[in-house]
Amino acid sequence: MRVTFVGLGAIGWPMAMHLAQRHELTVYNRTTARATDFARRYPARVADTPRQAADGSDVVVTCLPTSREVEALLDGANGLLAGLRRGAMLLDCTSGDPASSRRIAGRLAEKGIAFADAPVSGGTNGAEAGTLTVMVGADESTFQRAVPILQAFGQRIQHMGPVGTGHAMKAVNNALLAANILAVGEGLAALVKAGVPARTAVDVLNASSGRSFVSESLVPERVLTGAWPRTFRLALLDKDVAIACDLLKDTGVAGDIIATSGKLLAEVRAALGEEADYLEAIRWIERRAAVEIRG
Ligand code: NDP
Repeated sequence: MRVTFVGLGAIGWPMAMHLAQRHELTVYNRTTARATDFARRYPARVADTPRQAADGSDVVVTCLPTSREVEALLDGANGLLAGLRRGAMLLDCTSGDPASSRRIAGRLAEKGIAFADAPVSGGTNGAEAGTLTVMVGADESTFQRAVPILQAFGQRIQHMGPVGTGHAMKAVNNALLAANILAVGEGLAALVKAGVPARTAVDVLNASSGRSFVSESLVPERVLTGAWPRTFRLALLDKDVAIACDLLKDTGVAGDIIATSGKLLAEVRAALGEEADYLEAIRWIERRAAVEIRG
């Protein structure tokens, strides 16, 4: 297949790496140097514009910060729409928002182009290992066409429902992740201040009913060690929680816990900036509590 990948960011790069090994790949990245660097390491052609990237492709995969950037890349003389041909397919792996995706799908349908929202979960490690979970919002036939492409980097590829439901699923997942990071950070900070060694608190939590992915993996690997690698920008998690808040509003569900997480995360984002990693939310809790959770 002739595949195009747009957005060689922290997670896009390893996803594209797998596609390069299976398909005839073209890459486009806003900062061209990153695309050139990619093509030096993997078999891929570099396109100068989104239009050139989409021209002649069977499938275009996008992985950008938000749906706003995806919509912006569609338009204009050098936009994706000018290059996409009738019968092609756009797979949006951005963690975007359902309403934008429905709008994009409608515009593409007018030109005979299929669309699926296909956000991913599993982090940069999962992308490198090719074991991501992919949550797909699409009609059945588009989903079936998308599976062989998504299998390059995905292990569980789940059809969630019509366009927009992939993004809804991803937003709820990340809202739960955010709430859990904040709650685990607060709980551990209090335990350490009460005199419990951090490592003991985490071990006991992980042998008890309050355990989670955050306590079992993220805290031991990044907080107890004080490693704080940068893999997923906190600003992007904040965006995901805002999408989940909108979903709760749209569906008439009272969302106090998720709304509170969103409010706190927005505060952390304002304090730490756009490049901070999502786990630095726990560092922010530590600073406010004047304690460190290490061990
Ligand atoms: P990054 O911030 O690392 O990368 C963003 C990419 O988008 C870069 O290639 C950047 O180009 C490009 N970009 C940004 N703004 C524009 C623009 N206006 N026009 C064109 N290109 C633009 O993000 P991630 O790779 O981490 O995340 C991408 C998506 O995947 C997000 O929706 C995120 O929520 C989601 N995600 C991320 C995970 C992770 O672990 N990192 C896990 C699961 C989902 P440039 O190089 O020029 O800056």
